[in-house]
Amino acid sequence: MIRRLVFAANWKMHLGPGPASDYLGRFLAATPPRDGRTLLFFPPAASLLTVAAALQERSDARAGAQNIHWEPKGAFTGEMSVGIAQEAGAAGALVGHSERRHVFGETDQQTGFKVRALLAAAMDVMLCVGETLAEREAGLTEEVCLRQLAAGLADVAPTQLPQVMIAYEPVWAIGTGRNATPVDAATVHNAIRSALTERDATAHIPVLYGGSVNAGNAAALLAQPAIDGVLVGGASLDPDGWAQICATEA
Ligand code: PEP
Repeated sequence: MIRRLVFAANWKMHLGPGPASDYLGRFLAATPPRDGRTLLFFPPAASLLTVAAALQERSDARAGAQNIHWEPKGAFTGEMSVGIAQEAGAAGALVGHSERRHVFGETDQQTGFKVRALLAAAMDVMLCVGETLAEREAGLTEEVCLRQLAAGLADVAPTQLPQVMIAYEPVWAIGTGRNATPVDAATVHNAIRSALTERDATAHIPVLYGGSVNAGNAAALLAQPAIDGVLVGGASLDPDGWAQICATEA
């Protein structure tokens, strides 16, 4: 059976519309569709239209927003609603990325609001969870991840779970060049998987790993059966390097 894998690129605050278009021209030419592989791009909001248009002919690839607000409209300067993201071509959004949580102070409760707003619009959710270094050193890794998971998925109906993906991203590994070992990551993935199975044993929810993934470590991480894909920041910014990671044999 073909293994299903998700390769998700989080461009953070890089690649405006012009560079995004050049990037995708190069990347898509180097990356033909492959059975069982889904490619996701999370560009800055201003590049969503461009990215969604560039991916239109590719049923294996989708664009998503890096963040959304849960309210449908209103006086929320600087925010983007689910409806506006959808109109700009987003099929889904990241929720609870560690930079949203730890740089912008997003709470567990707010992640739940965002997840429910996306699901209500039939959009995909990539819910990110992960512990800080202090939490890891205090032995709280699973407790923190499962708490964030429960808060993010609060009031989510089992019928909506197929729209959800989870990214386990240890905060200390994001953008630091330090990644969890494949075995350590798989341990947390298995705990997340057990919690998901308790909600619905039939929903297949991909659980991705993120945190300093690169062309040198992707194969070892994806060799773990518990790791269903990767969410990548820095190493997704170069189209050739990202094409190489998306071609990883696993
Ligand atoms: C991320 O932004 O989700 C991420 C994992 O970043 P990096 O790959 O740069 O650690």
